[in-house]
Amino acid sequence: MSVGARPLLDVVQVHKSFGGVEAVADCSFNVVEGEICGLIGPNGAGKSTAVGLIGGALRGDRGQVWFAQEDVTRWPAHRRARAGLLRTFQLSQEWPNLTVIENVLLAAPEQVGETLWSALSARRRMRRQEQENWGRAEHLLAVFGLAPLRDQLAWTLSGGQKRLLELARIAMGRAKLALLDEPMAGVSPALRASIISQIRDMQASGISFLLVEHDLGVVGELCSRVIVMATGRVLTEGTLDEIRQHPEVAAAYLGVSR
Ligand code: ADP
Ligand code: MG
Repeated sequence: MSVGARPLLDVVQVHKSFGGVEAVADCSFNVVEGEICGLIGPNGAGKSTAVGLIGGALRGDRGQVWFAQEDVTRWPAHRRARAGLLRTFQLSQEWPNLTVIENVLLAAPEQVGETLWSALSARRRMRRQEQENWGRAEHLLAVFGLAPLRDQLAWTLSGGQKRLLELARIAMGRAKLALLDEPMAGVSPALRASIISQIRDMQASGISFLLVEHDLGVVGELCSRVIVMATGRVLTEGTLDEIRQHPEVAAAYLGVSR
């Protein structure tokens, strides 16, 4: 990072109230390019709200979200997604009545027909683009072990298979930063290891992550740095070993976890 440059994601004094509840309270943290940064905290700490504010699904009351050196605070979610800031949801949101490969194809960033000039050659380019997208989608299904499920409707997948599909969609969307909200929820032990290794491979390919996860085993395996939230605020951050030493973390989080 050059002098004066912001990290890949910079959340600055972001605030969001729902009625009287301060879900996220003047919260600041960042994610550095290349890292898998963990975000943990007890139920109701504001993690999912923070992810919503970063991804653009929620509009904050005040504060700023910077992504890749741009102030994206007022950008709608689709514009952030096109810039490479992509999220998955706690409950899978892929199109249930489309096939697995269709779900991956729909995650491709739009590129054709965006300018007047391109309209001239749009049809030919669109066909070529479509072929490229099909090729990439097929490739990603193979990479994520979903090739045998290619033509199955998405709703028929298991919890773990849906998570793999979400990761494949993030790769298809050319994410720079992926926001994962509890990607291990509803995942069988058999697919857990596969998801962990896919996330590692995606990191190696240049994707950074903000990973909301309550399973500290998963956090320990993936995250070099962990941010701890409680009651809408950052309580502390550091390596998993460092934050385990924090007395309030033990009280607010570790004490009530398994
Ligand atoms: P976490 O993901 O850490 O469990 P959330 O961000 O989901 O926490 O919730 C933080 C707080 O904000 C909780 O008290 C929750 O009840 C409240 N909250 C979250 N979303 C809404 C909403 N849409 N309307 C009202 N309250 C909400
Ligand atoms: Mg949550």
